[in-house]
Amino acid sequence: AIEFKDVEKRFGKTTVLKDLNFTVAPGERVTLIGPSGSGKTTILRLVMTLEELTGGFIFVDGKPLTHTEKNGKRVELPSKTTRAMTTRIGMVFQQFNLFPNMTVLENIIEAPVHVLGKPKAEAVKEAKSLLEKVGLGEKADEHPTRLSGGQQQRVAIARALAMSPEILLLDEVTSALDPELVGDVLGVLRDIAETTDITMLLVTHEMQFAREVSHRVMMFDGGQVLEEGPPDQIFNNPQHERTRTFLSSVQ
Ligand code: ATP
Repeated sequence: AIEFKDVEKRFGKTTVLKDLNFTVAPGERVTLIGPSGSGKTTILRLVMTLEELTGGFIFVDGKPLTHTEKNGKRVELPSKTTRAMTTRIGMVFQQFNLFPNMTVLENIIEAPVHVLGKPKAEAVKEAKSLLEKVGLGEKADEHPTRLSGGQQQRVAIARALAMSPEILLLDEVTSALDPELVGDVLGVLRDIAETTDITMLLVTHEMQFAREVSHRVMMFDGGQVLEEGPPDQIFNNPQHERTRTFLSSVQ
């Protein structure tokens, strides 16, 4: 589970998120939608601890991620504690972020071997099976630069899965792809949604996909949750004019 409690995020003097409270249950798949700049990516980056939390708390499976409360004061946890918490959180980015100087296989086994201390032979075996799963069994020894964007993104998904994440964060993972490559990537994600109970928090502009895989959709505006509900409700019967305008602009 992921819990945001009174979360605030400032960049300098700009407050991007304020008084944000929500929970994602174990195994739940939640999609964040909303206009550009509403803070969706920032929310994922806070969970991945790629951004500093300037106020409030985030809990993962009930445990504080970066800050806790002691004697009524908000205190930062040791970085070691935070790092240990993030090993079971995977993130896939819009721009793939693969290591360009490593082969596909090396990309996937890097963290299992160096962070989890998995024996290399075991990591390689698992990586190969993950590559089969994302339809890239033949590409283990290629360098990422020789792959299409869609293939690179499927490698990035396999790399995230190799850490056996409890939580998977997906940040507009098809936005940088040519339209004809989007389907394969979404297909892989649909398969993960159907065959695992990984908790997923995703940002996407692919509304049909959001409708299919999410248990819940949260509409953001100005760093706040404007409305939330099951996809049918948000897409077919939005309560706010702002949601209606947003949906008609993307669909
Ligand atoms: P998009 O759909 O365009 O990706 P978003 O809803 O994901 O938008 P965020 O990327 O979370 O929005 O950005 C929220 C706000 O925070 C924006 O106004 C953005 O300019 C600002 N912001 C994000 N990162 C930084 C940063 N490193 N420094 C300063 N401002 C930032």
